[in-house]
Amino acid sequence: MAVPGKVQLSDVEKLATKEKLGRLNWSVNVRYLVILVLFVMTLLGHTLGFSYDLGGILVAVSLGLAFNIASSFIYSGSRYPRVWPYLGIMLDMVVITYVVHYTGGVESIFLPLYFLQIVGSNVHFSRIAGPLNFLFGGGIFILLLIGEYQGFISHIAQPYFAGINVHQHTTYVFVLALNLVALMGISTYRSGYVVRSLSLVERRLFELNEELIHTNRAFSYANRRLKEIDQMKTEFISVASHQMRTPLSAIKWVIKMMLDGDMGPLTAEQRDLLSKGYQSNERMIALINDLLDVSRIDEGRFQYMFSRHDLVEIAQRVIDEMHANIKARGVHFHFKPPENPLPKASIDEQKMHLVIQNLIDNAIKYTPKGGDVTVDVSQDEDKIRFSVKDTGAGIPERQQDRIFSKFFRADNVIRMQTEGSGLGLFIVKSIVEGHKGEVHFESREGVGSTFSFTLPVEGRGAENDGSFERFIKSM
Ligand code: ADP
Repeated sequence: MAVPGKVQLSDVEKLATKEKLGRLNWSVNVRYLVILVLFVMTLLGHTLGFSYDLGGILVAVSLGLAFNIASSFIYSGSRYPRVWPYLGIMLDMVVITYVVHYTGGVESIFLPLYFLQIVGSNVHFSRIAGPLNFLFGGGIFILLLIGEYQGFISHIAQPYFAGINVHQHTTYVFVLALNLVALMGISTYRSGYVVRSLSLVERRLFELNEELIHTNRAFSYANRRLKEIDQMKTEFISVASHQMRTPLSAIKWVIKMMLDGDMGPLTAEQRDLLSKGYQSNERMIALINDLLDVSRIDEGRFQYMFSRHDLVEIAQRVIDEMHANIKARGVHFHFKPPENPLPKASIDEQKMHLVIQNLIDNAIKYTPKGGDVTVDVSQDEDKIRFSVKDTGAGIPERQQDRIFSKFFRADNVIRMQTEGSGLGLFIVKSIVEGHKGEVHFESREGVGSTFSFTLPVEGRGAENDGSFERFIKSM
């Protein structure tokens, strides 16, 4: 079996790469949008009388368009490209500077494009992309202004500034450059700060995700191991119980033969000792039977043989069988069968016998001498209700949620040094639910308990009345 070693982070890494690629693809879409807006705006500006070099703009924009188409292909892969996005943001700055130049340099209405680009590169790419873009973009913008100022680069003057020659107005150009570069720097810093905070959160989320994956794997592993151990335990109980039942049965019959006098007469002392041995042996057999039932329930091998039965009759039979025991415990026992006969229900008689026996046995076992135990069977609409009420030890409230768990015994009855395995109620619940019924209980420590169950009147007996099983057995 694979033991979880170091966590494989490939899932998280893949997720991170996918997310980054998603961002790059989004940047491609934004670039298409900007190109479209630029195209429309320059045409509009041209129509409205601005002096634009449309040919130059077309070349610059086409360059951006070609790069964007190539980017779409590159970003559609599953690997994150390291260098290409940086080429992209540099090229964007070059294209923007071209557009600014062809639309009037210092007079261009497209100067805000620089801010758009800086914020965009901060958001879409790594932490160094923003500052790098700022330095590069700011640099070529200043070079453009110097070039136009010095006359190395032609200046496309706009009609609205006619005669002013702003591009050679030293103070204006200096203040504009200073202002623009300072604002570009601030934009880089502010958007970078937000992006850095977000990436911190993102990083933390990835770390938490890694921890979750790690914990999840550890839990699954522990869960698998627990299931295996549980299975081994069930198998062990099943095998051990089967092995123990045969010798215990042999002991039972040997003691019985001796008690019946088949081996000759016994002295009173011998009879007393053998009777005690017989009782202990019976208790062991009962425990083994419970263990076998529990392992059958756990393995889903607990078979039912349903047929129509009167629950009152079954209860009466159990009470008759337990008569001596009830008397020996010294409790006041009450059972008044209902005056009108109750409808029959689909019941596995043997198993229902076990349920009623367990519930009455608990009530008399955990009720002190002189206490009351009342058994009641009644009809509750389309259900038959059986209940056992006692004035015994009760169950501590904090332990009540574990009452139907295997091997559970409450602290107060352990202190009373009563015998028990904690398997009875688990079996009761499983059998009642196997009859499509429900088990309930109410209890107060030191006051008493009421255990009850309901069975549907129209049950599953019609589907399986046990005839098939009887047929198989008879073969
Ligand atoms: P066992 O009686 O063999 O211990 P059960 O599964 O029948 O096992 O019962 C589980 C536990 O539920 C008991 O040990 C006891 O703590 C509590 N219990 C069950 N029935 C009663 C009852 N009538 N009064 C008080 N406690 C009860």
